[in-house]
Amino acid sequence: MKESSIITNPYQDITTIVKLKGKDVKVHALCTGTVATKVNFRTKKGPGFISKLNILFDSQYTEYMPIWVWVIEHPEGIVMIDTGEIAAVNNPDYLVHESAYARFIADSISKFQIDEKEELDRKLAGVKLKTEDVKLIILTHLHLDHTDGIRFFPKTEFMVNEYEYKHPYSNLPTTYPSWFKPNTVKYKPNRVEVFDAAYPITSSGDLLYVPTPGHTNGHSSIIFKTDDFDIVFAGDISYTQEQVISGELPGAHIDFDKSKQTYQNIMAYAKQRKTVYLPSHDGNAAQRLNSRGFLV
Ligand SMILES: [Zn+2]
Repeated sequence: MKESSIITNPYQDITTIVKLKGKDVKVHALCTGTVATKVNFRTKKGPGFISKLNILFDSQYTEYMPIWVWVIEHPEGIVMIDTGEIAAVNNPDYLVHESAYARFIADSISKFQIDEKEELDRKLAGVKLKTEDVKLIILTHLHLDHTDGIRFFPKTEFMVNEYEYKHPYSNLPTTYPSWFKPNTVKYKPNRVEVFDAAYPITSSGDLLYVPTPGHTNGHSSIIFKTDDFDIVFAGDISYTQEQVISGELPGAHIDFDKSKQTYQNIMAYAKQRKTVYLPSHDGNAAQRLNSRGFLV
């Protein structure tokens, strides 16, 4: 990670109101700063292992992309998806307890622009919520820009896919708070449309945790079935909606074959149900939810 001195964030927090059993439910898109990655990290160049070398040797960065956190004011309790990034990520010694290899990789793939005003406790205050109001935090995967805000929620229940927790890929565990002990869950083999397994998050079954591997082996997404359409909180399945439509894979992903299957599942799902697709770093995601921009 390389520091950049000028902090500019063009991405606005947006609150969208959806209907659930006829009642209004707020969904907040909160931008916890921005990240730029190597171009070949966002877009795969070359086959297999070569694509990984092409990330390290790439000198070009993408534009700064948002780091979205999603908050649903669900009637069963406030649910948050991922925890975003924090300003301390740019401290030179932030990863001092990680291995030299892990630090080298982190420095070689991305750079952040994060202001303390963009950290999650302040962002929640901006929508009149306190950190202790959040009942459940669901993690799509364990990469730094999805886990660094964990520290604000010592009293909140965390949920993560058991496989992701036991077999993480490129996570930086020395950055977790010492108290971080998430509830690990296994999918249940009940078929939800195109997904052959899912874990029901709410007792009403309107929030589901589904396997979307490829970015990491245990990567998961969250489906929210509102009265009028479905929302897929997609984590890092892809960096943009355009990628999943065109089939363009990120070089970042650990398993390109699994990614292709996940892309097919998402597109098949969107053909069956009206779906708003929300990757964590898609510059248009918050606006697309607000304007009901469906994937298909
Ligand atoms: Zn990631």
